Amino acid sequence: MANFKLLLADLGDRPVAVVGHARPDGDCIGSQVGLARGLRELGHEVICVNLDAVPRRLVFAARGENFIKPDSLDDRDYAVIYVDCADQDRPGKRLRERFPQVLGNIDHHVSNNGYAKHNCVSSGAAATCEILGGLFIDEKMAIDAPTATALYTGIITDTGQFRFSSTSLTTFKISAELMANGADPAEAGYELYEREPAGKMQLLQRFLASFEMHANGRICLGTIEDGVFAATQTSAEDTEGLVDYARAIEGVEIGGLIEERPDGVKASLRSNDPRIRVDRIAAKFNGGGHACAAGLTMSGMAAVVFRHQLITALEQRLAELDAEK
Ligand code: 5GP
Ligand code: MN
Repeated sequence: MANFKLLLADLGDRPVAVVGHARPDGDCIGSQVGLARGLRELGHEVICVNLDAVPRRLVFAARGENFIKPDSLDDRDYAVIYVDCADQDRPGKRLRERFPQVLGNIDHHVSNNGYAKHNCVSSGAAATCEILGGLFIDEKMAIDAPTATALYTGIITDTGQFRFSSTSLTTFKISAELMANGADPAEAGYELYEREPAGKMQLLQRFLASFEMHANGRICLGTIEDGVFAATQTSAEDTEGLVDYARAIEGVEIGGLIEERPDGVKASLRSNDPRIRVDRIAAKFNGGGHACAAGLTMSGMAAVVFRHQLITALEQRLAELDAEK
């Protein structure tokens, strides 16, 4: 809270760039849109910058906010705020080079190392949008219906619709306040979960059919082989939510999705027990995230090699925890 006040005071009259991570999810887009709108109400000129486009299902939450790609940025001196970024590399190499100095860092990742001048980081928060909602309420900043909708979107997507263990009483209190200001749960639910492209169901079929169990059913890994996106007329953004099916099987403690690419792999890990710390397992492969939800991207590693190393790391972690019990 004190850091947020310092950040606001330090913006000066420079234009503000609100930056989110590559392959943005609901919490990233919601945070960028919500913060940009809130700062504009305070009189600042604000742009949102992201390496990748707003995914189709999140367009409703972006409410016409214009997202600028790194290549289209002018060379003015921006006050730079990163949202939902555990580290300075998450927005991509280009933005790291363009913005070597980060003024504000608003985030909820346990691995966040405080890379900005003003860090508003709370790993207890279920979403960056939850942090922003709380800050807006405390600072008495304007929350109109589009801002409330954007922030609400980040909360429901990062909590798996209020189901994950990160969901707290504060999550509900802030969500109620956002609803009072115009967020519409039915609209958000429809836009996010009931407008899937038909190809996504084919992608889901292929993903479910690929499930492999390890460690006596305690680990479930699903794979999206190279070429499956083209065959199902989907893209990487359609993998959102798939990994949750791997974790949803009774007895499974760690669920994973491995996306094979010509030049490497992208993987998502989910667990139902924060003691497993999947963020630490992801960190062994240059990734990171949260105790129960983490991800990684490896280029230049063959999928078969990665799979073997990942299974070994996961099995070792379960054995370690068994030994502690
Ligand atoms: P997802 O599996 O949905 O892509 O991401 C889950 C969490 O893991 C996100 O909160 C994100 O911060 C983190 N994550 C995903 N991919 C990467 C990655 O390539 N590098 C790092 N450091 N974290 C990632
Ligand atoms: Mn988040």
